[in-house]
Amino acid sequence: MSLKDHLLTRIAQDGPMSVADYMAECLLHPKYGYYSTRDPLGAQGDFITAPEISQMFGELIGLSLAQCWLDQGQPERFTLAELGPGRGTLMADILRATHGVAGFHDAADIVLLDASPTLRDIQAQTLRDHAPQWIDTVADLTDAPLFLVANEFFDALPIRQFLRHGDGWRERLIGADSESLAFGLGPQAAQVALAGRLEDTNDGDLVEICAPAIPIMTVIAGHIARHGGAGLIVDYGDWHSLGDTLQALQSHDRTDPLATPGQADLTAHVDFEPLATTIRTTGCAHTRLTPQGVFLERLGITARAQALAAPLGGSELDRLIAAHRRLTHPEEMGNLFKVLGLYPALAAPPPGLEP
Ligand code: SAH
Repeated sequence: MSLKDHLLTRIAQDGPMSVADYMAECLLHPKYGYYSTRDPLGAQGDFITAPEISQMFGELIGLSLAQCWLDQGQPERFTLAELGPGRGTLMADILRATHGVAGFHDAADIVLLDASPTLRDIQAQTLRDHAPQWIDTVADLTDAPLFLVANEFFDALPIRQFLRHGDGWRERLIGADSESLAFGLGPQAAQVALAGRLEDTNDGDLVEICAPAIPIMTVIAGHIARHGGAGLIVDYGDWHSLGDTLQALQSHDRTDPLATPGQADLTAHVDFEPLATTIRTTGCAHTRLTPQGVFLERLGITARAQALAAPLGGSELDRLIAAHRRLTHPEEMGNLFKVLGLYPALAAPPPGLEP
C-alpha cells in the first residue's frame, strides 16, 4: 500500500479531507510520511535551508541569542531550544559560535522538538557532544528562561485554505477523481477565525490559516514573558498571506502537491500577523517583521564572510561568496524569508531586530 492508496481509502470512507489533514498525513504519517521516512535536506535531498547553505547563518543567530542572555543578566539556568532542527546543523553552529561566551554553555539546557524519528537520529549524532534532550510538545518546556530558534518550522505546520464566497467561505478540500486526488470546494459557511479577513479580501480570494501555530506560539511567548529569554522565528512568508501558497518541492523543483503524496516536501508561507497577535496576548513583546537579508547584514554577515574568505581561493571562495549572496540578496532568500523576534516587554529586542 502507498500513502496515495491510504488517502484514497480514507476519502472513500470519510469524504473529502482538508488541506491541513492532507499535509499532516503527507508529512508525518508514521509509516509513509515525508519527514518520518527520510532526511530531505541538502544538495542530494529535496530542498536546502539557510543553515545548510552556510555556517554563518547559525553563528549570527547564536550570537544574537547569547547577547540577549548577557543583556538579561546571564540567568544561570536556561533552556536553549530549537523547533524543527532538521540535521542539527543550526544548533551546532549556534553552539560553536557561542563557545567563547563565558558561562553560556554551562547555563544552557539544550532542548529540541522534532516529530521526525529519522531526523532526531541525525540530530543526536550532530550534537552528541552537547547532550540535547528531545521534547514531544512545547508543553514539556520547563519553567526557565527560554532562548529559542525556529527556522523553517512554522512553514511545515498544516494549513487550511478558504475561498471567499460572498460574505462566507468555502473550504478547499481534497477528494478523489477516480484513482487520482483532486481539489474541490466545501459548502459555503461562516468562519469565526476569518472574520477580520472579510475587510481585506474580495470574492474569489483564497486565504490560509495555520491553526496549530497558535497554541505553540502561545506557550513560547508565555514562557518568554514570564521567565525571560528571546525567540527568533525565521521563515518564508509575510505579514498577511493572500492566495494559494501551498507548495510541493521534490529534488529542488516545484511539483504538483497532489501528485506524489509523502514523496515531496509540502509547505505554506507563514502568515506572521496572527503569530504577532498571539504573542501580544501573552504579554510578550515582538519585533518588527524584518527581511532575513537585513537581519543578517545588521549582525555583520559581510564582515564574517570576509574573515572566512581570507584563507580561501578558487572554488571554495566562489562557494562562500555564493552562500553570502544566497542568504542575503533580495532576489534570493534575503527578502522572501523574514525574521520575527520575541522578547520580554522590559528587555532589549534581539540584536539585528527593532521593536
Ligand atoms: N530547521 C531545519 C530544518 C527545517 S525542515 C533547517 O533549517 O535546516 C522542518 C523541520 O521541522 C524538520 O526537522 C521536521 O522534521 C520538523 N517538523 C515538521 N513538522 C513538524 C511538527 N509538526 N512537529 C515537530 N517537528 C516538525
